[in-house]
Amino acid sequence: MRQTARVVVIGGGVVGCSVLYHLTRLGWSDVVLVERSELTSGSTWHAAGGFHTLNADTNMAALQGYTIRLYRELEEITGLSCGLHHVGGVTLADSPERLDYLKAERAKHRYMGLETEIIGPEEIRALSPITNTEGVLGALYDPLDGHLDPSGTTHAYAKAARMAGAEIILRTPVLETNPRPDGTWDVVTPAGTIHAEHVVNAAGLWAREVGALAGLTLPLHPMEHQYLVTEETPEVYERGAELPHVMDPGGESYLRQEGRGLCIGFYEQPCDPWAVDGTPADFGHELLENKLDRISDSVEFAYRRFPVLQRAGIKTIINGPFTFAPDGNPLVGPVPGLRNYWSACAVMAGFSQGGGVGLSLAQWMIEGEPERDVFAMDVARFGMLHRDATAGRWITPGYTRLKVKENYQRRFSVSYPNEELPAARPFQTTPVYSEWKAQGAVFGAHSGMEVVNYFARPGELPHEVPSFRRSNAFEAVAGECAAVRGAVGINEIHNFGKYLVTGPGAEGWLAKVMAGRLPKPGRITLSPMLSPRGRIIGDFTITCLGPQRYQLTASFGAQAFHMRWFESHLPPSGVRVENVSTRRIGFQIAGPRAREWLGRVAHGDVGGLRFMDAREMDIGPVRALVQRVSYTGDLGYELHVDWESQLALYHALMAASEGLGAKPFGMRAMMSLRLEKFFGSWLREYGPDYMPGETGLGRFVDHARGGFIGAEAAAAEMPARRLCAFVVDADEADVVAYEPIWIDGAVQGFVTSGGYAHHAQASVALGFVPVERAREGLQAEIEILGRLRPARLVTTPLFDADGARMRG
Ligand SMILES: Cc1cc2nc3c(=O)[nH]c(=O)nc-3n(C[C@H](O)[C@H](O)[C@H](O)COP(=O)(O)OP(=O)(O)OC[C@H]3O[C@@H](n4cnc5c(N)ncnc54)[C@H](O)[C@@H]3O)c2cc1C
Repeated sequence: MRQTARVVVIGGGVVGCSVLYHLTRLGWSDVVLVERSELTSGSTWHAAGGFHTLNADTNMAALQGYTIRLYRELEEITGLSCGLHHVGGVTLADSPERLDYLKAERAKHRYMGLETEIIGPEEIRALSPITNTEGVLGALYDPLDGHLDPSGTTHAYAKAARMAGAEIILRTPVLETNPRPDGTWDVVTPAGTIHAEHVVNAAGLWAREVGALAGLTLPLHPMEHQYLVTEETPEVYERGAELPHVMDPGGESYLRQEGRGLCIGFYEQPCDPWAVDGTPADFGHELLENKLDRISDSVEFAYRRFPVLQRAGIKTIINGPFTFAPDGNPLVGPVPGLRNYWSACAVMAGFSQGGGVGLSLAQWMIEGEPERDVFAMDVARFGMLHRDATAGRWITPGYTRLKVKENYQRRFSVSYPNEELPAARPFQTTPVYSEWKAQGAVFGAHSGMEVVNYFARPGELPHEVPSFRRSNAFEAVAGECAAVRGAVGINEIHNFGKYLVTGPGAEGWLAKVMAGRLPKPGRITLSPMLSPRGRIIGDFTITCLGPQRYQLTASFGAQAFHMRWFESHLPPSGVRVENVSTRRIGFQIAGPRAREWLGRVAHGDVGGLRFMDAREMDIGPVRALVQRVSYTGDLGYELHVDWESQLALYHALMAASEGLGAKPFGMRAMMSLRLEKFFGSWLREYGPDYMPGETGLGRFVDHARGGFIGAEAAAAEMPARRLCAFVVDADEADVVAYEPIWIDGAVQGFVTSGGYAHHAQASVALGFVPVERAREGLQAEIEILGRLRPARLVTTPLFDADGARMRG
């Protein structure tokens, strides 16, 4: 066996083979795939082979579109058949809510260039006469849906990779993966050891076990999944043309033609994680015992939806396991805390997603970054996964199992924009949690952390009803916004990622990784962090705590994403970066009376604090870092303290609040308030899909200093589109994200986020339009739930346009 390779890919399922192929396609041929048995020996061989583009994340949907279009190319390259059946597919809606959902998806597809359409019951019957459309209101039709031969497709990837120089070693299990001090790896097998620059874990069903060889706890779990194949059925084969796929979310099933019969699979509610203590090493080509009792309700439902099934005998029942991450998306990319160790795991829809996963990973490895924002499948989105990395770690196998089961059960559920999922909660809470709860707080979970969304008022439902329209929280949120703008509000700052940067090289290092101006001691600046291509990979607040001592603040959910970047750009000595996100928490107070409130409790010159100043002060008995900034766009202060002092800070503040009209507010109000100032937010307006110039963050880039990562790309940016704000003529529903923006009868832009700005009493949308159209007063239309709504481009913030209140 060879002794060296640039890359060793572990696992020869569809995903490992796709990664191998894409590495060669992008120019690396010194690559080898090691498979413990034969190709397809994990989940791949028993897959039903269906593919589709539908995904709530638009970039994931685009990568699924890429995967599906790739198959013809693979067939041409290799001469092998992928067994493609491009039959199209319909996703049924049997409730107004599901139709809303499909309309929202359709709207997103418009800007992505996908040719889906909403069709009515008659068209559904014309396409799929075996479907009983009783109770069905409509469907989303996607011409790209279809199915293929899982084994043929995997072998086509493998052959294409071999043709480009890759090697595939079969019947050879990887027993150890051992890092060397220089960041390379020894991959140990019974046939010898391969010294590799990079390792890719694509071990599918055994990804947990292979990850453990490198000290990883990967947040994924296998679930059992069953589908049935029927005998030949005249209604099917006498039709002349192949039937389209029918996804019936109401019945938790997907159905397609299989030869002269049908194949129907179920995402049933009574389901269980499989192999809790680990996937057996000797598992492979066997199937699991049928568990028909679990799917009996779903089968009964399917008999009504597709009456032909009642007459079709069952030929085969397949029960096989495959893996899921807690949110159902793959785990891809460089594993935080390890060097040159890559994940290509938890791909639950290998035939929809495998190509996109392979492409993105190969781009990341070879070109340094994937071509689009892939945070939705970034392995870093679940925090630190290595056993030695303690800071910021929040995931456990117990959490993963509960979330994976919930995700499986919700595979066909409507995803509402305001929905909070209940499994594994509360998982992380701050000391003030019970205080908020007693005041009627309705919580959401932000990367595992409980965060107040709003406070239900006496007599109101104690939860928010999931909806695409304005919810039952509307009036309560309006009240919280009014309290902030009219007096003063208080909320928590625990859902920020926070980092302490210290050491003699701190300033020099920050000047390299941050694109903005660095603050002087006691001051704060805002700074984008850029990739070498000038794309936005962070949106930071930098506080200079003293010489060579800084605090960085950014998105809470991006902790491992940012720590991975920091660690891979740290010099060998002179700079220390600590993730203090959950060590440093506290409150924000904001509104016209915020100064008065702080002045009552803080020992220090509160009045002398200018906008963007930062000082240590005692507040009651607690030492706090006071920062004069507020994402509400109002006069406001962030008060950062150690975790154990949070309650003391809270009580000190509340004891001094009499007569101020102080009220707690939640994230719903915060997001409404920031809209009035047109403030963007992470992964909505600011993220790796965008460059600073087009988002307006260009004004924070220190072009004069230069020398930072991404400086040349940022200097050369010629924006073709611009982030703008619109006031939308909406009534019961506001924009969420990715709605198309129509200008002169054509889709020319898309929404990034928006909602109702309560104080300004306006429905606001932020989004990108071509730079030449970005003019005050532009009349556009934005599609909300299938209806075009007039929208006017505005360039002046709806609150505190001259900044007098925020800076005064
Ligand atoms: C019943 C069922 C129906 C499905 N239907 C569909 C569908 O219609 N459409 C769809 O897109 N997806 C479907 N799937 C999911 C699909 O099968 C998976 O998404 C896909 O197979 C995942 O591929 P993979 O390469 O990640 O993992 P796997 O197929 O599990 O491959 C992992 C490989 O790694 C190898 N390996 C493990 N450990 C080692 C080691 N230590 N050393 C060397 N090699 C190792 C294994 O032998 C295996 O070959 C279905 C799954 C099931 C169970």
